[in-house]
Order: sequence, then C-alpha cells, then structure tokens
Amino acid sequence: MGRIIAIANQKGGVGKTTTAINLSASLASLGKKVLAIDMDPQGNMSSGLGVDKNEVEKTVYDLIIGNIGIEECIYEEVIENLDVLPSNIDLSAAEIELIGVDNKEYILRDKVNKVKEKYDFIIIDCPPALSMLTINAMTTSDSVLVPIQCEYYALEGLSQLIHTIELVQERLNPELEIEGVVFTMYDARTNLSLQVVENVKDNLNQNIYKTIIPRNVRLAEAPSYGMPINLYDPKSKGTESYLLLAEEVINKGEE
Ligand code: ATP
Ligand code: MG
Repeated sequence: MGRIIAIANQKGGVGKTTTAINLSASLASLGKKVLAIDMDPQGNMSSGLGVDKNEVEKTVYDLIIGNIGIEECIYEEVIENLDVLPSNIDLSAAEIELIGVDNKEYILRDKVNKVKEKYDFIIIDCPPALSMLTINAMTTSDSVLVPIQCEYYALEGLSQLIHTIELVQERLNPELEIEGVVFTMYDARTNLSLQVVENVKDNLNQNIYKTIIPRNVRLAEAPSYGMPINLYDPKSKGTESYLLLAEEVINKGEE
C-alpha cells in the first residue's frame, strides 16, 4: 500500500515546495513510483518539476471544481517514475467556489482514491495557509511532514499548525499522523541555525528527521530550469541531503 504525505506549514517560504519537489524526485530516483500533487495556486511545484503551469490544460482546479476524472489531470512520467498533478493560479478561485458544496473537505481524497494503488508515494505540496486546500490535502493524506526553516521565528505558528492537524484527526481523518519535522536552510556558518535546531528539539514533542537540509544555492537555482536538484546538480549537497531524507522516509514507512 502506498503512502500519502502532505508537506505543510502555513508559514510562507520555509521550504515546503523545495522539499516536495526534491523528496518526490529522490523517491522516484530510488525506484519508487511517485505522484506529486500541487495544491498551491502558486504552481511552483509544477514548474519546478518541469510542467509549464501556463500551458497545462487540466489542473487540480479542474479536478476539484469540474466533474472530471483524475487520470485526465495527471501528467505521466514527467521524470522517470514521477507523475505530476499540476496547478496554477486558477486554483486560487477554488476556495470561494467551494462555499456551500457538500463534503468539500473530501473532494481531493475521493479523486485520489481512484489512483492511489498505482503509486508507492503520493507527495502533496500545500499552500502557505490553513485553507480548504490544505484541509483537502490533510484528509487525503496518511501523514503530514512539516518543514521548519532554521531561523529565529521557526516555532512561530507551529502550535496552530499542530492544532489544525489535531482537528482534522478528530473530525475528518482519524488515520492522519504527523510524519515529522524536517529542518531546512540550515546554515552551518551561523550559530543561529544550530540554536534553532536545539530549541525545536527541546520544545517539540514530534518525530524529527535526522537529515537536515542545508542552505544550498543549487537548490534555489534548480526550479528556474524546471529540474529537481538530482537532475540539475547530482553532485550537490542538496542532492545528497534530499536523497538521505527520501531514504529516511522510506525506512520510517517500513518500521
Ligand atoms: P511558500 O510558502 O511561498 O509556498 P515554501 O514554503 O514552499 O514557500 P520554498 O518555495 O520551497 O518555500 O522556498 C522559499 C525560497 O527559499 C525559495 O526561493 C527557495 O528556492 C529557497 N530555498 C528553499 N530551500 C532552500 C535551501 N535548502 N537552500 C537554499 N535556498 C532554499
Ligand atoms: Mg510553496
């Protein structure tokens, strides 16, 4: 049975999309069959994996609002072993259009159920908001992986996020787990990064991944070439660290 993981944190710019792109691509490079779902109207996961968000015909928006099948929206083998369900700015209207719709919390789940047997992993990139799009990602998922940026305000907003996850567990998806937190943009040259990691470890009672993603300029460059890090610069620190994270994620599932 495949695993569905939402990458979520309502704080902006913490490395959700970078993690979603590169975890998906690393899992695929390890031979896992992966579906990457972009639930953010910014569409950065789609373009970062090489899907032109302005050219796509069918997106998550059409899936959620239109009555169409999920197969029609999936771009197959964008990279070996990796399929993409893209989104673009159209999705920003979904929140409003869902007002008053029955069971709107489960629209994505009901669609994904039809294809989930085909995949070892489904990775969902969430927008920086605790919105109906994020709720749809959480009702669809087995677990939530939370990227935390190594900066001074790292813990800010984390209690709301955990509260939201707990509400979804209670009311909508009792199976949902917190996969764990991943530190991102770690800068070994500063004491601050180290202090943030120590502080979060002391204050957060959650699984923390051993792999820490360093600040690496190649990770920031890769999306503009529409490539995940392992294709853009296979020898970079970014490639190495996301591969280690992927191995940890696989091993955690096999525990
Ligand atoms: P949003 O909340 O807007 O969706 P996000 O949480 O998805 O943002 P990203 O888009 O992944 O965050 O990252 C924010 C910025 O930081 C981007 O410009 C990205 O390229 C850069 N970045 C992310 N991770 C790293 C890293 N490890 N090293 C260097 N730059 C990084
Ligand atoms: Mg993002």
